[in-house]
Amino acid sequence: MSPDTHGGRAKCLQRLVRMEMPVPTTVALSFEAVHNIAAGDMPDLARLISPFEEGQILCVRPSSQDPDWGGPGAVLNIGMNAERHAHLSNTLGREAADELYFRFIQAYSVHVARLDPDMFDDIDPTDANAVNEALDAYEDEADEAFPQDPKEQLGGVLRSMARAWEGTSARLLRMAKGAPADAGLGLVVQAMVLGLGQGECGSGVLQLVDSVSGTPMIKGRYLSQSQGRDALEAGEKSLFLEKDDRGPSLEDQAPEAFSELIKHAEAMRVRLREEMQVEFTLENGGVHILDGVRVQRSARASVRIAVALAEDGVISRQEALLRVEPRALNELLHRQVDPDADRDVVGSGVAASPGAATGKIVFSAADAQASAARGEAAVLVRRETNPEDIRGMHAAVAVLTERGGITSHAAVIGRGMGLPCVVGASEIRFQARRKQLIAPDGRVFGEGDILTIDGSNGQVLAGQPPMLEAALDESFQKLMSWADENRDIDVRANADTPADALTARNFQAQGIGLCRTEHMFFEEDRLTAMREMIFADESDDRKAALERLLPIQREDFVDLFQIMQGRPVCIRLFDPPLHEFLPSDRTGLRDLAEALNLPLSTVERRVEALSEYNPMLGMRGVRLGIAVPEIYDMQARAIFEATIEASKDGDAVVPEIMIPLVSAKREVELVKTRIDAVAAAVRTEHSDAFEFKLGVMVETPRAALRAEEIAPNCHFFSFGTNDLTQMTYGLSRDDAGRFMSAYVQQGVYAEDPFHTLDTDGVGELVKLGAERGRKERPDLVLSVCGEHGGSPESIAFCRKVGMNYVSCSPFRVPVARLAAAQLAIRDQIGS
Ligand code: PEP
Ligand code: MG
Repeated sequence: MSPDTHGGRAKCLQRLVRMEMPVPTTVALSFEAVHNIAAGDMPDLARLISPFEEGQILCVRPSSQDPDWGGPGAVLNIGMNAERHAHLSNTLGREAADELYFRFIQAYSVHVARLDPDMFDDIDPTDANAVNEALDAYEDEADEAFPQDPKEQLGGVLRSMARAWEGTSARLLRMAKGAPADAGLGLVVQAMVLGLGQGECGSGVLQLVDSVSGTPMIKGRYLSQSQGRDALEAGEKSLFLEKDDRGPSLEDQAPEAFSELIKHAEAMRVRLREEMQVEFTLENGGVHILDGVRVQRSARASVRIAVALAEDGVISRQEALLRVEPRALNELLHRQVDPDADRDVVGSGVAASPGAATGKIVFSAADAQASAARGEAAVLVRRETNPEDIRGMHAAVAVLTERGGITSHAAVIGRGMGLPCVVGASEIRFQARRKQLIAPDGRVFGEGDILTIDGSNGQVLAGQPPMLEAALDESFQKLMSWADENRDIDVRANADTPADALTARNFQAQGIGLCRTEHMFFEEDRLTAMREMIFADESDDRKAALERLLPIQREDFVDLFQIMQGRPVCIRLFDPPLHEFLPSDRTGLRDLAEALNLPLSTVERRVEALSEYNPMLGMRGVRLGIAVPEIYDMQARAIFEATIEASKDGDAVVPEIMIPLVSAKREVELVKTRIDAVAAAVRTEHSDAFEFKLGVMVETPRAALRAEEIAPNCHFFSFGTNDLTQMTYGLSRDDAGRFMSAYVQQGVYAEDPFHTLDTDGVGELVKLGAERGRKERPDLVLSVCGEHGGSPESIAFCRKVGMNYVSCSPFRVPVARLAAAQLAIRDQIGS
């Protein structure tokens, strides 16, 4: 018997029987048998029930391959009829017999005869005549007497459960949980232990860990005179298991049964190599184990449970690593809405940056900063964010935008900062000028109203639900260290600021794979110098403005090098179009004119002159570096001077300098010549011989195709899969959010390619670029630094292509470390 032929429950029961646990007699029907039953081919029922005692009351439970795929509800008390009722009235008492019969009539009517559940509404189950009334109701509705033959009852139950599994809605439901369309169902026919009658009778569930935290403790409930999972629904009437100040417990009431149950649960944990929930029934004080089910668990509990099982030698460390879903780590790394909390959903969008936070609505970055200054948590609501909003984003606890997709500005920055973020929430109406949001249900939210942004699932919630704090506890750290022992691809972080770098180091990133230097220029003091530089007419004026930026940049880099303590730091030269640094509204333009002491009309003209039809394909990246070379000169000098400074009291820093948006060999040659010249000048001025590495971002299709001629001037290639996806598809990364869900829903794209790397198309370019680059230069270091770098599927691809590392947002580093370890382990064990 295996879970693939008879389902997980049947397999588990077989193991419990082999462990000589007090499991009632059980017969398992295979997927094939159940499939045949659904098609009308009933097995020999007399043979099926032959292992049971004459007159035995039975139950049937579903047994799907993976218990998480669900299945039809269990049907209990099969075999109850007038004769059994009379017999049990004598042995158990009338009340218990009535209850059993009544329950069965009800279950059979609803699940087998498919009658309306409301038909029993007027019957009081505790009434002495309830059974007769139920039988009459059945006869009225079904036009026949309630079946008395236990075999006929059992056949009906089996048929209805088999058919329910094959129905369309059940199929869609389980497919949503990851089951294949043709997943099979097994059924388990078991002798009922009644849980009703004389002596201590009842039922309950028990587990040895808490499902939310994973902490070892005895959890569960017991209810006297009950069946199935009644105890979980009985509220205060049910008992605690262990002695408890809050009320009576099973340990008080039946101490021997209690300690026997604990022993069974502990044995199950070891033999089944898993934390199990034990479903049990007591009959006249005796313990019966009906089932063992894998304990339901939150992500944080799954880490703690896997680590504890490995520490206790129950499973290996590798198996512990395989048992935790990498993406589920997001739940530990950020605050979460308590899974048990009620959610008042206002609307939803793209889950762009995980975690949840609550704050008052503000509609501008300035207001977010003002709120932070008052010590108030603010949710920054914008149509979309742009670089000017960065300081507001830093000040806010969460961001919500109307537009954008998974690689839009708010999403990328949000993930980098670990700021919960929902983007593209277009079902909510954003009325920025009126400072209000209108939910699809018509509710209006204004400035100061409280919202909770759940960036883990894309929901926007009204009010403040209870939260769970991040849990970077010892178990998490242990699991991560085991991951590092197993993986064979490095993981770096994308980090733009010292704060990001600190986060990256805390998550044990092996270096910085991408430092987007432009983000450093948005601080107030730097923005003005930056704007002066942009407005300079002459190269000398430009140089003067850049002189003011030089020491600031140098300090940034010294900080980064020092925080990273000798780990590699890859600094990308200036990338965005210049106009991003200029104000877009009239007040901003006036302020700028004042700051630069220029007439407003001149400022307006210059801003106008810098605007482009298609800035993402315009003068940005290396094109700007060649057209306005002083910018890269200044950055190179800042990097080299910082290198000397940071190498003074530690190991020599070897910075990596990366040129963005390259598409031609000559671009690299031109930039390289100037950078080499700056390096030579700094070496001479400081009498210091530092090393550095120069490489390019491969993010245009042409760079990938011409990799062979670009590679000779490069130590490394880092594939910028955000731009490469944008340019391969001809699909704007800032606008794709508008139609992406329609595209995915209609199957045009299997997934959002900005979210999951398109290994067929974009991947082919990456593969070509990697092969062609390495052909010319076998020691070429290869990596991916686009947003895909942190996703488990992309990491699988990167390993196959022979990349040295992936680089992703700091908060995704643990996810990437675990995913990489799982891939290496699966390769090793060949699964
Ligand atoms: C990229 O294009 O993949 C990339 C990493 O750079 P950016 O997102 O800054 O354009
Ligand atoms: Mg890019």
